[in-house]
Amino acid sequence: MLNLVLFGPPGAGKGTQSAFLVEAYALVHLSTGDIFRANIKGQTDLGQLAQSYMNQGKLVPDDVTINMLEAEVNKHPDAKGFIFDGFPRTTAQAAALDAFLEGRGAPISGMLSLEVPEDELKARLTKRAETSGRPDDADPAVVQKRIDVYHAETAPVAAHYAAQGKLHAINGVGSLEDITERLRSAIDSI
Ligand code: AMP
Repeated sequence: MLNLVLFGPPGAGKGTQSAFLVEAYALVHLSTGDIFRANIKGQTDLGQLAQSYMNQGKLVPDDVTINMLEAEVNKHPDAKGFIFDGFPRTTAQAAALDAFLEGRGAPISGMLSLEVPEDELKARLTKRAETSGRPDDADPAVVQKRIDVYHAETAPVAAHYAAQGKLHAINGVGSLEDITERLRSAIDSI
């Protein structure tokens, strides 16, 4: 099984690149942000809870997020592997994911970390706000909060996988094709 974590700050290109990788490697794409947004759209209890955090640029609590992710993985018993996009975002989520996948005998194969400078991230998110319809892209204060939360809570997850020898840093600036190629060569080296 090929289980990949696609990692990086908001606006790094995780969603865009996932679409290419899913096709190239026949993996199941699980984006916690997309799943939360689908729940908001469907007006579920989970969506209502998540929305209050997302609109402020804060993380949805770990217990809720971990339970949801595990339920999503369990929906795909025949998967050849997964791309986890936007998860894990805390070291507690990483520890829970490791334990969960260990139990299934299919641990994380590698973490691909897209590196993009902060001014470029803000420019991309401002542009994305024109078409994404996402309230958390449209408000510069919320964008800044998401970047701050990334540094404080999410960046340590890279060290978690570096300690396991699984971290692959990828330059996330350039053409979409060039970045896909960098990701593919990192994956093919795993
Ligand atoms: P994203 O689509 O990955 O940019 O996520 C949008 C928002 O969903 C984040 O700002 C968080 O509020 C929430 N979210 C997504 N994934 C997670 C996660 N793994 N843990 C906690 N909150 C999350």
